[in-house]
Amino acid sequence: MRVNDNRPLVLIVEDEPALQTLLSYNLEADGYRTAEAGDGVEGLALVSKLKPDLVVLDWMLPGMPGIDVCREIRRRPQAKDTPVLMLTARAEEADKVRGLNVGADDYLTKPFSLPELLARIRALLRRAPPQSQKGMLEFADVAMDLAERRVTRAGKGIHLGPTEFRLLQFFLQSPGTVFSREELLLSVWGADIHVEARTVDVHIRRLRLALNGDAEALPDLIRTVRAAGYSLAQE
Ligand code: CA
Repeated sequence: MRVNDNRPLVLIVEDEPALQTLLSYNLEADGYRTAEAGDGVEGLALVSKLKPDLVVLDWMLPGMPGIDVCREIRRRPQAKDTPVLMLTARAEEADKVRGLNVGADDYLTKPFSLPELLARIRALLRRAPPQSQKGMLEFADVAMDLAERRVTRAGKGIHLGPTEFRLLQFFLQSPGTVFSREELLLSVWGADIHVEARTVDVHIRRLRLALNGDAEALPDLIRTVRAAGYSLAQE
């Protein structure tokens, strides 16, 4: 079982299944976790939900074009700093300028070589270290100091194991959002096929216990949504 998985998560928004498979296979071989969306609407939903460290975004998508997806990513407070690498079949300089104008960080014209793509992704991630690695997260009376790796509830220090820490960190990034066990596995553990969904329940239980301690007066901040998953929420 792989815990404390710090591999960057790359979201691939691409409607051609063959290219999507090729990209995720090669990104995973290069040490990334990947998530895939086949159109712009699904891509935007996953940007909000999974908080990827980088988005590879195709220009020509069914429905919402990549350029609109990029513009929308830049409008969202929690996603606006996420690096976006646009892919396009268009080679015109004017399109490149348009792409960069709406906030794409880099641009590759199809067909491109995989080493080139991987080099661009590495460069983008060097420029923008994952957002999740710094700062302070808060919800209700829970505070997480990411630099110090310290968690408090109502001002009192809480000790968490590395997996519970990452789980709470992930919840704190999207309070109120319900995540399925599969989504939690992908985001907190990485898409490791040897980890069972049941493992999530075990760590949720530990996290709950650590947050609530034996003080029955503290409300439970982790909500179990039947048949759906878990969320961080106030009663
Ligand atoms: Ca396409």
